[in-house]
Amino acid sequence: MLRLENKNVLVTGASRGIGKAIAELFAEEGANVIVTDINDESGDKVAAGIGGTSCYLHLDVGREDDWIAASEFVKNKYGGLDVLVNNAGIAGILETQGPHDPENLDINSWHKVHETNLDGVALGCKYGIRLMKNSLSGSIVNISSRSGIVGIPFAAAYASSKAAVRNHTKSVALYCAEKKYHIRCNSIHPGAIYTPLWDVMLGEGEQRDNAVKAISSEIPLGAMGEPKDVAYAALYLASDESKYVTGIELNVDGGILAGSAASPPNT
Ligand code: NAP
Repeated sequence: MLRLENKNVLVTGASRGIGKAIAELFAEEGANVIVTDINDESGDKVAAGIGGTSCYLHLDVGREDDWIAASEFVKNKYGGLDVLVNNAGIAGILETQGPHDPENLDINSWHKVHETNLDGVALGCKYGIRLMKNSLSGSIVNISSRSGIVGIPFAAAYASSKAAVRNHTKSVALYCAEKKYHIRCNSIHPGAIYTPLWDVMLGEGEQRDNAVKAISSEIPLGAMGEPKDVAYAALYLASDESKYVTGIELNVDGGILAGSAASPPNT
């Protein structure tokens, strides 16, 4: 028995990085995966690579009309939804004008980051709940960040949006429980996962190698993570193995949030 046998799953931002790893792993575990993104060319390729019952759909998570169209598509083609992974997100540094620090922040950029990272998740939960109400084992997995738990001085909008995702996850979890819907909702908090999201921060060539080494030296487990590390955590939360788990935050960060930075030296 595969871990997601015959479950209908929608993953946002799945044309690359963590979302792609989740889509591919879930399909290996028997799910019918709806790969969604704004990058249609890459998204199509991911869905084609998965094959079988999977498909690609354009979905800009910040747009409510896109969610309405996606809901119709899912109902017509798959009959309903069992799992939603709200993965799409932007750091904002590349996609918007700066600055992003609290003293000088550009308010339009602040709104754009929140539109994608927070409104995108809130809309996903809204339409995900409606699609999953009839499922006997619904699961919503929200990809927040380690930055939803600690601040980042020069990416304050990103940190704020991810903190809000962490909290909204708990409201959704309690709402669904009170309504007696069979829908659980949990957040994952990745840290330092090596994906294209880091490109603008790492540079190229030797500069990149040095930057990765410097980041790795500050991670308790000594290396940046892989997209699959997050995908396995999402698999647990999506599957019925986690049927008694709702409203939690699961860190996948090599131990960064364990707080080793200020620990006394071993004498
Ligand atoms: P990524 O490589 O940049 O992939 C993100 C994907 O989301 C891209 O395909 C992107 O499309 C898509 N996207 C952007 N805006 C969208 C929108 N409005 N609607 C739908 N799709 C959109 O990022 P990643 O590292 O895999 O990150 C995935 C999630 O994990 C994000 O929420 C991120 O904040 C979170 N996270 C990542 C890390 C990390 O270390 N990598 C750490 C903590 C949290 P385009 O290619 O067209 O831009």
